[in-house]
Amino acid sequence: MARLLEGKIVADRIKDELRVRVRSLKHVPVLASIMIGENAGAETYVKSQNKVAKDLGIDYQFHKLKAGTSEDELITFIEELNSDKSVNGIIILMPLTAKIDCKKVIRNISPDKDIEGMHPLNIGKLLLGKAHIIPCAAGAVMELLDSTGINLYGKETVVVGWSDIVGKPIAILLLEKLASVNICHIGTSDAGNLEKHVRQAEVLITAVGKAGLIKGEWIKEGATVIDVGINRVGDKIVGDVEFESAVKRASYITPVPGGVGPLTVAILMRNLVEAAKLQ
Ligand code: NAD
Repeated sequence: MARLLEGKIVADRIKDELRVRVRSLKHVPVLASIMIGENAGAETYVKSQNKVAKDLGIDYQFHKLKAGTSEDELITFIEELNSDKSVNGIIILMPLTAKIDCKKVIRNISPDKDIEGMHPLNIGKLLLGKAHIIPCAAGAVMELLDSTGINLYGKETVVVGWSDIVGKPIAILLLEKLASVNICHIGTSDAGNLEKHVRQAEVLITAVGKAGLIKGEWIKEGATVIDVGINRVGDKIVGDVEFESAVKRASYITPVPGGVGPLTVAILMRNLVEAAKLQ
């Protein structure tokens, strides 16, 4: 039976460290979050980010722009925050409307204040092993792996999902540890090869968003399994991995919910404190 990798335990340790670091800064760090119109999903994040910020002594400024705000208006607002010296970090709550080009908006956040690590400059630094800001879910995965004490050097790792913000950064960070990284995606599934690759994984990370995509019986005995996926099935939230059967084969596994999720907000706050220190 696998041991559970609970995000809250690691998050509490990171938050303890952050409280001390925040007190050592000359100014109260400020996180500005921007939302356009009504966005029920994002409001849940706002509540939890606000709560964690308050707990850590961080000033969380929530800017709700009117529904129908244009791309130009949003960029103008971001530029104001970029030049406001009191603001240390900026986040945009997704999703934005179809009329707004998310990538263009992100390119307009000052890289120094891009605490989600999504600006091309920060992605470039990540690729070169020089990042000080790491995308939050990827940072959370690495912290969970670290908490197991597992040595990633030469390990057969499989990352399922290759999105810019989750799968790719995770794969790069694993490469930095000299793990052997195999990135799988929709093409792998369509070719009928997903099971074959997953069965090889000593460390498996899934970031897809499809409940039950990874069958429990595919999990290698003793593997470490980190499930980033969040899927609603009826009134339940589940990951991408069939938990009930996977937990019997793995040596470590994240529960969903309760694994990666609770850690991402702690990593966001760590990125903010890091940004404030460097500014
Ligand atoms: P995305 O839609 O951008 O990417 C999904 C990836 O899955 C793609 O690379 C795609 O190729 C791959 N994929 C799709 N169908 C597949 C299949 N049948 N077989 C293999 N691969 C397949 O999603 P994302 O933004 O990377 O998020 C992935 C999941 O992680 C979602 O469930 C999201 O909600 C979750 N997520 C969780 C956290 C957290 O804090 N826990 C943070 C970010 C994202």
